[in-house]
Formats: sequence, C-alpha cells, structure tokens
Amino acid sequence: MTDQSPLTHEQISDIRNRLADPKTSAPQLREIALQLLADSNHWYTEADSWRESYRLAKGMSDDELNALIAISEATLMHPRPCRFPDTPDCTCPDAA
Ligand SMILES: [Zn+2]
Repeated sequence: MTDQSPLTHEQISDIRNRLADPKTSAPQLREIALQLLADSNHWYTEADSWRESYRLAKGMSDDELNALIAISEATLMHPRPCRFPDTPDCTCPDAA
C-alpha cells in the first residue's frame, strides 16, 4: 500500500478481513487506519490537482466548474430499473 497506487479488490478484502479478525491488535488497527488516511489524502490531492488543471485549461471560475459538476451529477442516468432523470423520482435501492 506504500506505493500509492489504488487499492485492488484483493487488498480491500484483506483489510476487511484484518479489521474483522479478533486477533488483530489495537496497534495493528491503528497502523491500518493511518495507512488508509495517508492513501486517501494522496488521492484527494491528486484529484484536486487534476480538477484545477481542467479548470485552468477551460478558463472557468471555481463557481462555473462547481456548477458544471452539479449539472452533470443531476442529469446523470441512474442504473436500471431506475428511470432517473427521465422520470423525476429516483427508485434506486440505495437512495436515501
Ligand atoms: Zn435512481
């Protein structure tokens, strides 16, 4: 996990197993949590940098880019059988 590449499904599954294992000690849990925090911070920083590059390339303000993202999310088609945005009501099973 220290090479800062995205976690694979196997690694995620391994982490889940270690967290669920009663033999995993508190310092080991702490180490897992700190590693995940570092990874998360790395990928958020990376995403922010790409976002800023895109914004500058398009000559957009921060508000304009935020609006573009909001519009894109609001009009994104949901997986079937949900018919959003063709119908205004989202019927996705995990919708809050
Ligand atoms: Zn939906």
